[in-house]
Amino acid sequence: MHESCGVFGIYAPGVDVSRVTFFALYALQHRGQESAGIATSDGRKIYIHTDMGLVSQVFTEDELSHLQGYIAIGHSRYSTTGSSQPMNAQPILEEPQTGTLALAHNGNITNSRFLRDELVALGHSFRTTTDSEIILKLIASSTAKNIADKIRYTMRRLQGAYSLVMLSKDSLIAVRDPMGVRPLCLGKIDGGWTIASESCAFDHIGAQFVREIEPGEIVVVNKSGVKSYHEESNKKAICIFEYIYFARPDSIIQGKLLYPARQAMGAILHREYPVEADLVVGVPDSATAAGIGYSNASGIPYAEGLLKNRYVGRTFIAPDQRLRDLGVALKFNPLSAVIAGKRLVVVDDSIVRGTTTPRVISMLRRAGAREVHLRICAPPIRYPCFFGVDMATKWELIAAQKTIPEIRDFIGADSLGYLSIPGLIESVDLPQDIFCMACFTGDYPIPVQLEMDKLALEALPTPTGSCYELER
Ligand code: SF4
Repeated sequence: MHESCGVFGIYAPGVDVSRVTFFALYALQHRGQESAGIATSDGRKIYIHTDMGLVSQVFTEDELSHLQGYIAIGHSRYSTTGSSQPMNAQPILEEPQTGTLALAHNGNITNSRFLRDELVALGHSFRTTTDSEIILKLIASSTAKNIADKIRYTMRRLQGAYSLVMLSKDSLIAVRDPMGVRPLCLGKIDGGWTIASESCAFDHIGAQFVREIEPGEIVVVNKSGVKSYHEESNKKAICIFEYIYFARPDSIIQGKLLYPARQAMGAILHREYPVEADLVVGVPDSATAAGIGYSNASGIPYAEGLLKNRYVGRTFIAPDQRLRDLGVALKFNPLSAVIAGKRLVVVDDSIVRGTTTPRVISMLRRAGAREVHLRICAPPIRYPCFFGVDMATKWELIAAQKTIPEIRDFIGADSLGYLSIPGLIESVDLPQDIFCMACFTGDYPIPVQLEMDKLALEALPTPTGSCYELER
């Protein structure tokens, strides 16, 4: 399961904004690893560099030194709408060479097909296959007099998830969709202002977290200061998977630091599905905090039984079949000296297609684990995401196709327990009605125009229980 993107923006005269953006994108690299880009403005001209690859692969000292100015936006991308190609790397400029507005987007527009057809019928042509270009074209073609009104017009046309950073020649602009599906926050740096998908980026660049951008809010930063505009926001639908997996544990979303929320998920998993075991192992990195939470609540010692090779990026292409067959082994290495002969509770963030989990479990067994009890920090994923997360089609989702006992048998675990929806809500300690949980419930917060097969969705059983404990 992949997140769609990380975005960053800075307005700070006197600061080396391209290098600050470069380091901020490093901190947001976990949100997208296919391409990266930075656009800057010196008040007269917009400079831009984008390419495929990790942030460290896309930028050299030379490229950064050409990105001049005092305003910058940056992007690290995982493709959701629009394939992984150089032309789709962001930020995108309204017109190549002459454009006056650059944009970087995290999310997914669910009525993009309709809007694109409409714009094409009006004579617009597209350079990319992304839904982000549709947003840019709508803003640029609006007849409203100022940028805030152009964005307001566009927001009324868009459905779906969008956290945006934009740059004009003299302003930095941030926009969060009225449901607030994807995170976006505001910070201060050296007399200037900064915007980021996650607050962890501020920590790395010496910026101070100020607040989250509200759902439906437009923030414009320029020499007149910071101005905020609000579009109507009737229903929040913050992606609960940001808490489980996507965002870094040192980020703050809805006023909550994620690390303790993830520890609480582990503690509640223990309350819901206790088991006798010798060690708790969290699958690194996203389930480490939950593993520690399970351990603290149960009194079962925590161990680093599985080590992760952090430098195998998602863009890695295995050059031959032998390496491709290694698959999970390229990423994880079990510590047999720690786990041999032990009964393990393995805590992981989610099971999507069910392709990786059986390999991890069999790897642990080959390393000598006597029992493997899997505990998952999310309820079963039975429905696809249309809001910027590349999960799978519903036919590929293992929990849409199999019962929980069948999943347990398929993955080869001794027992399997999924965190319940009430348990998940308790762990984040916020009201349930502010969250999107459509991938668990099928209750989408807005209509989706994509490939939903409603009849097939209705035919699926309503998710109820969320645990299966093996009768051994
Ligand atoms: S469907 Fe799931 S992954 Fe997608 S936005 Fe909603 S909670 Fe997040």
